[in-house]
Amino acid sequence: MAVKRGPEVVLFDCGEGTQRQFMLSKLSFMQVTKVFITHFHGDHFLGLPGLIQSMNMYDRDRPMHIFGPAGMKQLAHTLVTLGYFIPGFAIGVTEMAGGSSIDFGEYTVSAIDAQHAVPALSYCLEEKMRPGRFDKPKALELGIPEGPLFGKLQDGQTVAFGGKTFTPDMVMGPPRKGRKLVYTGDTLAHPKLAEFARDCDVLVHDATADSTMEEKANKYGHSTARQAAALAKECGARVLFLTHFSPRYEDPAPMLAEAKAVFENSMLADDFLEYKVQYTD
Ligand SMILES: [Zn+2]
Ligand SMILES: [Zn+2]
Repeated sequence: MAVKRGPEVVLFDCGEGTQRQFMLSKLSFMQVTKVFITHFHGDHFLGLPGLIQSMNMYDRDRPMHIFGPAGMKQLAHTLVTLGYFIPGFAIGVTEMAGGSSIDFGEYTVSAIDAQHAVPALSYCLEEKMRPGRFDKPKALELGIPEGPLFGKLQDGQTVAFGGKTFTPDMVMGPPRKGRKLVYTGDTLAHPKLAEFARDCDVLVHDATADSTMEEKANKYGHSTARQAAALAKECGARVLFLTHFSPRYEDPAPMLAEAKAVFENSMLADDFLEYKVQYTD
């Protein structure tokens, strides 16, 4: 999953052929600044060597950072030095534990332990509060002239005009909510995950199988579409994307029907599917 946010692309997991998929998409892999790996099953990380070597072919000099569960440093070292390859750009690696969170300025990414067959994480990207709306009529009413002073107030600066001082809180509405995205990776649906994903705008959830296969799916640390939908409902997600379908399903439509019966705003994730996450506030 690629999250395009401003000038950067943040990747969640990196399956085989990721760089090839980028070439077929509207995005560029050169924009990727961070990659969050959920766990070390091949379908979630084997795209890293190809991605990194392709970046190098395109003369990348911008650093890239890989995040993942314990063991990520060692695995990344192995992947980055495959063959005769020596990257021409810096690749940082940070191991995250369940319950940890990293502050990237405009947003944070936090992790919790997933319930899967191997150690795994689920991730949440959450934007910080944005400044409130600028109340132009109010500003004019206060006698602030339209022009550069408006911009300064919107930037949080105090301005002076006509012998008076104006502070941003006089003309700005209350801070507004950012957006929250949760990417579960491979996992059973579990109560802590519902708490972690509380009121998220987008929930991308493991939906490996349909309910007829529930016991088997759960045994291997995977969820069914119905379980993903139940979690979406419980946490109050705005939209649910089902993903990670077992290859037994040529057509995942039955899983969508099963999810929609529990949580109406369910969708099937698919290669190259684009979804714009709107602000709610
Ligand atoms: Zn897995
Ligand atoms: Zn998997």
